[in-house]
Amino acid sequence: MIQLKTEASQALYEEANLYTPGGVHTSIRNVEPHLVFTRAEGAYIYDADGNKYIDYQAAFGPYILGHNHPYVNGKVIEALQRTDLFGNGTTDLEIELAKKICKHVPSAEQVLFCNSGSEATYHAIRLARAVTGRPKLIKFQGCYHGWHDYVARNMLSAWDMVGKRDPGSAGMLEEALDNTLICTYNDLADVEQTLQREEGSVAAIIVEPIPHNIGCILPREGFLAGLKKLCEAHGALLIFDEVITGFRHDIGGFQKVAGVTPDLTTMGKAMANGFPIAAVAGKRKYMERFNTKPGGDVWFAGTYNGHAVGTAAAIATIELMEQEPVHETIFRLGDHVRSEIRGILDRLGIQGVVSGFGSVWTTYFMDFEPKHYAELQHNDAEFYVAYRKKLMEKGIFKLPMNLKRNHISYSHTQADIDYTLEMIETVLKELKS
Ligand code: PLP
Repeated sequence: MIQLKTEASQALYEEANLYTPGGVHTSIRNVEPHLVFTRAEGAYIYDADGNKYIDYQAAFGPYILGHNHPYVNGKVIEALQRTDLFGNGTTDLEIELAKKICKHVPSAEQVLFCNSGSEATYHAIRLARAVTGRPKLIKFQGCYHGWHDYVARNMLSAWDMVGKRDPGSAGMLEEALDNTLICTYNDLADVEQTLQREEGSVAAIIVEPIPHNIGCILPREGFLAGLKKLCEAHGALLIFDEVITGFRHDIGGFQKVAGVTPDLTTMGKAMANGFPIAAVAGKRKYMERFNTKPGGDVWFAGTYNGHAVGTAAAIATIELMEQEPVHETIFRLGDHVRSEIRGILDRLGIQGVVSGFGSVWTTYFMDFEPKHYAELQHNDAEFYVAYRKKLMEKGIFKLPMNLKRNHISYSHTQADIDYTLEMIETVLKELKS
């Protein structure tokens, strides 16, 4: 039972349940304690009971600059004073943003905007099918690419369902399940065998370059480059789903860090510091198959695509990354957090792996570095969630759910980090005793 004042949140949550199934608008938000949030600013979020938290969930990643960032919000307001959304042609904001993305992201010769990461992965996969004339897709166990039928299988599978037929939802088409093949992350031999077995029928491999949906499992040396080689050898396209890693790990995405350029890339989240916009990008010869170009035969549409809110926010977010040491700062804080937590675990004699990249980290309570999803069954899930719940009581918000990651933003101060580390040590001591 969590020791936190939650009466006001509870009352509002009950009301929410009257009008909304489960009272929340995304399944994964239905986590106890049921908080109702009322304010967000910089590194902090506030709930209806007046509890203030240093936020590391960052709404699952978008807030790379911090909540309600004045520069980004200012640019959005400025844009809305003169423009909004049009059902014809394009806008100056869309052109400016497209130019920026194509300048920074190695695989982006051309780009199209939509509103969510799920839309972006849907479009990328359909494009890959059109280009190759093949039906199948390879995804990795534990990776998440959105809610649609092409990809919503073998996500956070129960341990006895790893690698098996594991639909993420009732109501999915059996054909969609048949056409999405599951491989083990960091295992090139498994991917190669699958491609050989399915020779001529795999349109694409989709991968989170770092599977952050299960925390932080880093790609082994040569894994991402190996995927690219296998795609080339077997005539499939490589899709990097950079919805989390894009703009967070580098202004050019993790592909820039890894030096591996995929055929297609999907982006969202940190691209616009929390405003709703996503993108699919890739080689011109593929992108021109979309029917935004006359003669293109792959349908691409969306009433709200390119809305001024998202485009202005993304331009402002990328501008700030261009002008200020955003990545340098959050990477320095990330390195500091990881090395300090390592020290705390060692001092307390707690078995753990501190994993992460740049501004993202997680602490698995297990005794070896995991290479893929199945190995995470060795993480002590009960301890992991109890640790996070106790941190909430100390005013530190990390989603109290197994395998979730933490994000540092440009608004987190050294003082926030110092307090967080102090509380991490206190909580781990409490849990150990
Ligand atoms: N791809 C990845 C890697 C994600 O983490 C997510 C969402 O968390 C998505 C795609 C889907 O994005 P959205 O929730 O914006 O539809």
